[in-house]
Amino acid sequence: MTSTMHIRRDGIAYFFLIILCFLVILLFQHHYASNQNVDQTPIKPIIKITDKFRTHFNTHSSVWYREKCFRNKHADHLAIENLPKYLQNARASTNEACQKFVQKFDALFRLEEIYGALEISPIYLKKINAWLHNDEQLIEQIKKQRIIKIYNRYTHEEMLYNFMRSKRPQSKSEQSAQNYTLTLLEESKKNCDFCGKNYLNSTAEDSFGRLEHRLSYTAANTFKYDRWHTLIVSRNHDTLHLTEDEISDMFELSKEWFEKVYSIESKYTCPEMIWDAMPKSGASQMHTHLQVSLGFDIYYGNIERTRQGARFYAQMNDGRNYFNDYLHIHQALELTIPIGNVHILVHLTPIKDLEVMVLGASLEKDFYKALYLIFRTFIDDLQEYSFSFGMFLPPLNETSINGHVMPVVCRLVFRNPITNLRADMNGLDLYTSSVVGKDRYVLYRQLKQGILKRSK
Ligand SMILES: [Zn+2]
Repeated sequence: MTSTMHIRRDGIAYFFLIILCFLVILLFQHHYASNQNVDQTPIKPIIKITDKFRTHFNTHSSVWYREKCFRNKHADHLAIENLPKYLQNARASTNEACQKFVQKFDALFRLEEIYGALEISPIYLKKINAWLHNDEQLIEQIKKQRIIKIYNRYTHEEMLYNFMRSKRPQSKSEQSAQNYTLTLLEESKKNCDFCGKNYLNSTAEDSFGRLEHRLSYTAANTFKYDRWHTLIVSRNHDTLHLTEDEISDMFELSKEWFEKVYSIESKYTCPEMIWDAMPKSGASQMHTHLQVSLGFDIYYGNIERTRQGARFYAQMNDGRNYFNDYLHIHQALELTIPIGNVHILVHLTPIKDLEVMVLGASLEKDFYKALYLIFRTFIDDLQEYSFSFGMFLPPLNETSINGHVMPVVCRLVFRNPITNLRADMNGLDLYTSSVVGKDRYVLYRQLKQGILKRSK
């Protein structure tokens, strides 16, 4: 009897103990929930549907944006250093289209305007005067330098633009860039492994054989960097003087090679290509050759960063296509040149001063024409003779009935000074941010002029 009462009393004690513990836990949780400094913003759901890429928008012209939003009457006066002013004017406008532009710009880019002051001793000022040819305006500018910093929030690319960087003293080479290039091209023809029929005995083939066109052929890279990696070799040795047909033929052959590999091993779906011209860009062979490869599931790191950035952008912006907004921002800022269905962009975050981008829904004749016009303008008008080029196409396993989410994107940077020992990129560009001294609008106007005169 006593033991039964004991058990009952213990049972009641345990019951109250459990209730007490439960209450303590509840109080504890409540305390933390009300005191923790946690971001309470609801997490946006992952949006599965992203808009498809398109090159034509039902929107105002760039002239309209310039006049109504940025309050600038003359296209010739547009300058990167005034970008903060254009944005400020657009922000102040009550027009809905101007407001939408600002929202898009702010969603994708971060823009900063920074001043850097210098104290210059009288002796050092004499030296600077000599570099700047006693230009008083420049000397005033060097004392209080203005830096425009543009950061892409999704690809994390950044441009630090300071006009004064283009005024740095340069060592001059005795040999002209043109003579150096022509000599190099002529000399390298003598024992070229890729010229004429030499390639039949001097290059390897892919496991499925060699693909041949009238103006180009494939040759497997002897020193592979991937499972599916080959060279697309033009039958024209001279990279700097390719016709539009020769350019077109190389890219058509690249597409054929991608399809061939995909038909053999369908898990390799991500097409990418690179092209380097002349030793300054790192090219080991002078003869015109592209390198194409197919990635398994993902692209190479730098391209994948853009792809993932674009996906994240869509998630954060109601499924809007990153590339559409990227193109639209540049169109509104008057930094694009349309060539049929594709657009050349003098984009806001280049890897170096002379980089341009080409965007299109597919790799087709307008793309080849755009590349041909870019080459001619840079080589013949701006006397730039060395370039590096990178391109990616949408994944091969993606349905294309209504277009793709990812467009074809090509980036192309001319490397200079070609005869100078000094490299064109340094620790800043490689490990921090791209430092640029040439105004994007100056390059845009040069490019546009070159393209217009050749399109007549
Ligand atoms: Zn050759």
